[in-house]
Amino acid sequence: CWARVRGRLREEVGEVEYRTWLRQMTLAGIDGEEAVVLLPTRFLRDWVRGHYGDRLRALWVQENVGIRRIDVRVAANARVTDSADDQQAEGGLAETLAPSRPEPRAEVKPDPRSDWSAPLDPRFTFDTFVVGKPNEFAYACARRVAEKPASPGFNPLFLYGGVGLGKTHLMHSVAWAIREAHSQRNIAYMSAEKFMYRFIAALRSQSTMEFKESLRSVDVLMIDDLQFLIGKDNTQEEFFHTFNALVDAGKQIVVSADKSPSDLNGLEDRLRTRLGCGMVADLHATTYELRLSILEAKAIAASAKVDKRVMEFLAHKITSNVRELEGALNRLIAHANLFGREVTIETAQEVLKDILRAHDRRVTIEEIQKRVAEHYNIRLTDMSSARRARNVARPRQVAMYLAKQLTQRSLPEIGRRFGNRDHTTVMHAVSRIAELMQADSGFAEDVELLRRMLEV
Ligand code: ADP
Ligand code: MG
Repeated sequence: CWARVRGRLREEVGEVEYRTWLRQMTLAGIDGEEAVVLLPTRFLRDWVRGHYGDRLRALWVQENVGIRRIDVRVAANARVTDSADDQQAEGGLAETLAPSRPEPRAEVKPDPRSDWSAPLDPRFTFDTFVVGKPNEFAYACARRVAEKPASPGFNPLFLYGGVGLGKTHLMHSVAWAIREAHSQRNIAYMSAEKFMYRFIAALRSQSTMEFKESLRSVDVLMIDDLQFLIGKDNTQEEFFHTFNALVDAGKQIVVSADKSPSDLNGLEDRLRTRLGCGMVADLHATTYELRLSILEAKAIAASAKVDKRVMEFLAHKITSNVRELEGALNRLIAHANLFGREVTIETAQEVLKDILRAHDRRVTIEEIQKRVAEHYNIRLTDMSSARRARNVARPRQVAMYLAKQLTQRSLPEIGRRFGNRDHTTVMHAVSRIAELMQADSGFAEDVELLRRMLEV
């Protein structure tokens, strides 16, 4: 019966995933309603618990009606991974592994009055926030508020931007910094959703007065993802009053949302107006440079050695949101740990198939020209110019070769897009590059890298 559970799981997740995560899983025994499953390391245990726990349980229940629970444990006689590297990797993977946030740092005593606050993520501090053009203004504002809460012009601080661009990270950073510098300040950080549930709970238990009073006794109120209150008129109203009371009393408010106050349609006008009265800072979409810096910082933090080209590949491919980028990196680090060797671009492609597929798009000749020009450090206009110097002509041939490989365009069409060249020129370029790749493995690798970065 255990064999069947394993077999079904193997079918469901596929061979690669199974071999990566589940192969080493064994059944220790059945204890009443509980099946005890063993894995050799804490890391694998957490991973299996987090990613396959529910599935395992469901499969068991189907197989054997007597079983209700699965306990995934580290095998007692197994190598318990406590080497420095493994520890680090576990830290870095916490986001992917643990559904709940880790506890706040031990050395910071929780403020007895801040039972309002949701736990702060110890990884979200100013130190770990990578600053670049798209977020430097928001970062500077957050720093300023942390240093001098409630200073004029910065209250409220309104941070906005798309998913996974660092709003929550910055808010936690502010909270940590204020806690460290002014331990007596009472900070309440929570999501707008949490705010609403507490408000509703207070209504139900007829304790709204207590709710109002305790909330108004905080020194810093931080509400994350305010857009959640759209269409929740009563909660908005309550928030509006709390907001006014606190600002009038000289307390700092920090709010985040996915849009600017003026674009938060469905939020009451008077609330929008007040939200826009202090400092409004936008977290812009990341640039390639910022993504690469973030990857580098995260790899260092996880004490993991990741090939620079793999990081470049990720920074090119996963452009939408930092959380996904981090998730991808963590997966690769986990993979490298498990197999004890560095990840190559090929492995990255295999391991991240699902994520990459979501980011796939058709590549255009323009993109190819741009990327190749950047790569070889020539001007984009030289892709169509008549210049024949080798340092220009060779990259141009590479771009033609890639255009042939990666797009559906015909040779004449490709020729036209490269400064009205003849189709025979394109044909020559394609075969010449293929030849060179055969002869020179360094060059081949270079072109392969470009291809992967562009690949659909
Ligand atoms: P948001 O709240 O805007 O949706 P988060 O603050 O939750 O985004 O960020 C998502 C993930 O990306 C977090 O793990 C966070 O640490 C990371 N992250 C985002 N921006 C940065 C940055 N500039 N430097 C380091 N990590 C970042
Ligand atoms: Mg957030």
